[in-house]
Amino acid sequence: MDRNYKKMANLANIKRVLLFAPALAVYLSSEFFRDFIKLMDPARTKWQFCLGDFSANAYLLFVILDALYVVSSISIFLYSIIAYKKIKAGLRINLYYSLVRIYGLLLTFCAFCAVMVTVRVYGETDFTFFFIMVVLTSAILYINSMLTIFIDALCFIVAFILIKLFNLSTSYEPYWSYVIVFMLMSTAVAYIKERYLIETIERENKKSMFLANMSHEIRTPMNAIVGMSELALDFDVTDSQKNILRQIRTSGINLVGIINDILDFSKIESGKMEIVPVNYDLVKLMNDVMNVVQVRLQGKDVELILEINPELSNLYNGDDMRIRQVLINIAGNAAKFTEKGSIKIRVENLSDIQEKEGLMISVIDTGVGIRPEDLKKLFGAFEQVDMQMNRSKGGTGLGLSISQNLVRLMGGTIGVKSEYGKGSCFYFTLPQERVGSSCCSGVYKPLFDKALPVEDKPELKSIPLSLINRSEFAFLFVEKKATLDFTAPQARVLIVDDNEVNLQVAEGLLKKFKVQCFKALSGYESLDLLKEQSFDIIFMDHQMPGMDGIETLEKIRASEEKIPDSKKSIVVALSANAVNGAREMFLKKGFNDFIAKPVQGKDFCACLERWLKKDLIVPVDSTEEESSQSQSEPGGEQIPQDFPVLPQDRINFSQAVEKAGGFENWLTVAKTFGSSIEQKASQIEEYLKSRDFKNYTIQVHALKSSSRIIGAERLSKMAEYLENEGNKIQKAQQELSKLEAELGVKTEMMLNFYRSYQKVLEPVIEYGKTEAETKQTASSDQIAFLVNKIRQACQMFDLSQVEESYAELKKLVLPPELESKIPEIEVCIENIELEQLNDLLS
Ligand code: ADP
Repeated sequence: MDRNYKKMANLANIKRVLLFAPALAVYLSSEFFRDFIKLMDPARTKWQFCLGDFSANAYLLFVILDALYVVSSISIFLYSIIAYKKIKAGLRINLYYSLVRIYGLLLTFCAFCAVMVTVRVYGETDFTFFFIMVVLTSAILYINSMLTIFIDALCFIVAFILIKLFNLSTSYEPYWSYVIVFMLMSTAVAYIKERYLIETIERENKKSMFLANMSHEIRTPMNAIVGMSELALDFDVTDSQKNILRQIRTSGINLVGIINDILDFSKIESGKMEIVPVNYDLVKLMNDVMNVVQVRLQGKDVELILEINPELSNLYNGDDMRIRQVLINIAGNAAKFTEKGSIKIRVENLSDIQEKEGLMISVIDTGVGIRPEDLKKLFGAFEQVDMQMNRSKGGTGLGLSISQNLVRLMGGTIGVKSEYGKGSCFYFTLPQERVGSSCCSGVYKPLFDKALPVEDKPELKSIPLSLINRSEFAFLFVEKKATLDFTAPQARVLIVDDNEVNLQVAEGLLKKFKVQCFKALSGYESLDLLKEQSFDIIFMDHQMPGMDGIETLEKIRASEEKIPDSKKSIVVALSANAVNGAREMFLKKGFNDFIAKPVQGKDFCACLERWLKKDLIVPVDSTEEESSQSQSEPGGEQIPQDFPVLPQDRINFSQAVEKAGGFENWLTVAKTFGSSIEQKASQIEEYLKSRDFKNYTIQVHALKSSSRIIGAERLSKMAEYLENEGNKIQKAQQELSKLEAELGVKTEMMLNFYRSYQKVLEPVIEYGKTEAETKQTASSDQIAFLVNKIRQACQMFDLSQVEESYAELKKLVLPPELESKIPEIEVCIENIELEQLNDLLS
C-alpha cells in the first residue's frame, strides 16, 4: 500500500509541477521583458548605468533573477515529463526529487532577493513576487496538500501583517488575489483526489489479500490433485483410465494456469510485481520456449522456426522467468491460432533498431490474424477478440495485458501488426545489458554452422526445430516431455515438509528419477540430518511449525562449522503461497530456486536438471524407461475384496480414492494418516495447552488438508473452523501484546507519578506526630559513637559540640538505661556542668 500510494502521490505532484511550471514561466517572462524594456528606456541617461548607480545595477540584477526563474521553470517542467514517464514505468526518480528541492530553494532565494532589491530601490516592497514564489515553491515542494494550504495561508497572513505594520502599499497589480483562489482550489481538489486514491488503494489491497489467501487455499488441494494424478499415470492402468487421469491432470494444470494469470494480474495492478534480473543464457531460454510451443503444436501441420542473430551475446542480464512468461504467452497464442504454415520466433539485436543495448523479439505466425478494429483492444485486460473463434480455444483474455505490463516493467515496449486471415506478428523490445563477451554463435558453434540462411535478412540465420533437436545438442535441448528422459541414482535429495501427505507426493514424483530420497518432518530434523550427511539438493517447505523454511535456511547458511556445504547447498523453496513476489522473496532470502505448490513432476524435473551436477545425471532412452516403469510399479486400481467397508458418514471413500489418484495411493496416504493420529492430536493439544496459537493453527491447517485428502470431510471442516479461530486468536494476541506493552509504559508513568507523592505528602505524614513517633531507630554503635563524641567534647569544654551531638542523640530511639538518664543530662547541659555530664555518660 505504501509504495503504491507513494507512486500515485508522486504522479499527482508531478502533474501539479507540470501545471504550475509553464504558468510560472509565462508570468516571469512577461516580467522579464517589462523590466528589460524599462532598462533599455532611451529616456534614461547613460550615467545611470555606470557601476556606481545602485538603482540601475539593481535593475540589472532583477533582470538576471527573472531570467533565472524562467530558465529553471522551463527545465523543471521538461524534467517533470521524463520523471512522469519513469514513475509510470515503475522506476525510481531520485534525481527528480533532488532537482525539485534545489529548484524550490533557488526560487525562494530569488524571491527574497527580489523583495530586498525593490525595498532598497523604491523604499517600498512589491509583495507580488514574494506571494507567487512562496505559493508556487510550496506547491511544488510539498506533496501533502494539507501542508501546502497551511503554509500558503501562513505566508499570506504574514505578508498582510507586514503591509499593514509598515504601511508598504504596493504599486503593482494584485496578481496574488488570483493566485490565492487558484491555489486554494487546486490544493483542495488535489486533496480530495489523494483521499480517493488512498481509499481505492485500500480496496485494492483487500482484494489482493483475498486473492493471496484464496490462492493458498486452492493450491493446497491442487497439490494433491495434480501430483497424485501424475503419480497414478505411472501405475499399471488401462488406457481409458489413463485418459481420465490425463484429463484430471490437464484440467488441474489449466486451473493452476488460470489462477496464476489472475494472481499475476492482481500483482501488477497493485504494483507488487517485481523484476529480478539475473545473468541468463539466451539460447537456452529460447530453446525452453521452443519446447513448450512445440508440445502445443502437436498434431498440427505447423513448422516452428527459431531465427537468432548469431552476433547476439550468449549471456544477458534480465529476468529470464518473466521473459519466458511473455514469450510463452505470445508464442502460445500463435500456436493456438495457427492451423497450418509456420511460426517464427525471431531474436534480433535491439541496437540495430534503436540506440539501446538489448533484444528485439518477434513472433510471426501464418494463423487466423486479427481484424484492424480489434488490434487496439488486444492489450486490454480480460479482452478476447473474435469471440466466436475464441470460445473453443479457452483463455482468460489476460495474457497479453500481463505481457504488456511485464515488458513495460522491464523497460521495453510491445506491439502487434496483423493482416486478418493471413497472420500476425507480435514483437517486443527488451533493453538489457549484454554480459557475455562471446557471441552466441561462438558458444553454440555447430548449431549455427548448420543453420539455414534467411533470404530476406541475410544477417540472420534460420534454425528449424528439426535441426535443434539433433542428438549433438541433446545436452542443451532436453525436451520437457511428460515422460522421463533422465535419472540420477547417485543424487541424494532431501525433502523437508511437516505434512506427511505432501512428503509422500514429493517422494512419489521424485521416485521416477531414481534419486535417493530422504525426508525430514521439520526444520530441526533437517538440520540434524545435514550435520551428519550432505545432499545434492534440498526441497524445503515454507510454512512449518516451530522453525519455518526461511529460518531453517538461515540456520543452514550460518552453520559453516557444523554443516560442511552450508553456503553451497542447493535449497529450493516449496510454497503454496505463490503471490506477492513469492519467488523474488525466496531468492532474496537465499534460496536457489522456488517451486509453487501444487508441485508437478516437471517442476522437479526442471529443478533436478538445473541444479544437479552434470555427472549425476544419467540420460534415459524413453523406450527403456517405459518398460522399466511398468515393471517397477506393479499393483492396480482394483479395490481388494477383503478390504473393509468404511463408514460412509466418516470417510467419503470413493471420492477420496479418485482424488488420491487410485486405491493404492489412497491406502498409503490413509495409512500414514491413521498411524499418526495420536501423535498429531497430542501435538495439537500441547500447543493449545501452552497457548502456542501460531503452531496450533499451522497444525490444524495441515490436518484440514490431509483429512480432506483421505476423505474425512467433516473432520476437515472442523479443522478448517479451528484454523480460522486460531488465526483470530493470533490476531487478538497481537492486539493484546500491543495493549500489554502500552499498559506497561503507562503503568510505569503512573507509578513514577504516584511515588512522587511520597515527597509531597511527607509534611502531612509528619504532622501531629509525638516525639517518640518521629524518633529513628539506630544501632548501638551509632549511639556509642555519639555518646563518646559528647564525652570528648566535655573533656575539651566544647559546649557547642556537646549541644550539637546531644541534639543528634535525642533524635534516636535510645536504650532504656540511657533514656532514663535524659532529664539529668539535660540539667547538666543547662548548668554547663560538663564534668558531671562526662561521669554520667561513662
Ligand atoms: P487469452 O488468454 O484469452 O489468449 P490474450 O490476452 O493472450 O488472452 O489474447 C487476447 C486475444 O487476442 C485472444 O483471445 C485472441 O483473440 C487474440 N490473439 C492473440 N494472439 C493472437 C494471434 N497470434 N493470432 C490471432 N489472434 C490472437
